[in-house]
Amino acid sequence: MKKELTCIICPKGCTLTVDTDSLTVTGNGCSRGTKYGIEEATHPVRTVTSILRVSNRCDMMVSVKTAAPIAKEDMFRAMEVIRAATVTAPIRIGDVLIPNVCGTDIVATKNID
Ligand code: SF4
Repeated sequence: MKKELTCIICPKGCTLTVDTDSLTVTGNGCSRGTKYGIEEATHPVRTVTSILRVSNRCDMMVSVKTAAPIAKEDMFRAMEVIRAATVTAPIRIGDVLIPNVCGTDIVATKNID
């Protein structure tokens, strides 16, 4: 089977055609497109970004993301965990705020004093 998709690795946005039987990619302008096309066609992953409530600061949220991309089908489960959690300040960029969510950690992307 052939899948057509747009490479999102760089702004050029090559149109890739992935043969999912032979795992070959055409239309890519560079080798990064080959890796992206095969991953996207066989096991798509995404970095999830969101916000978490900071319980000891009035109306304060901290931006967070998954430390590594997770399987696309796990995104809603990760969002449920993030939505249900609260954290306390101080927080530093890179702090692990929720460990072990869908095989990775949820880390801060903002400092809160
Ligand atoms: S295949 Fe290479 S050149 Fe084309 S969009 Fe992807 S990263 Fe950019």
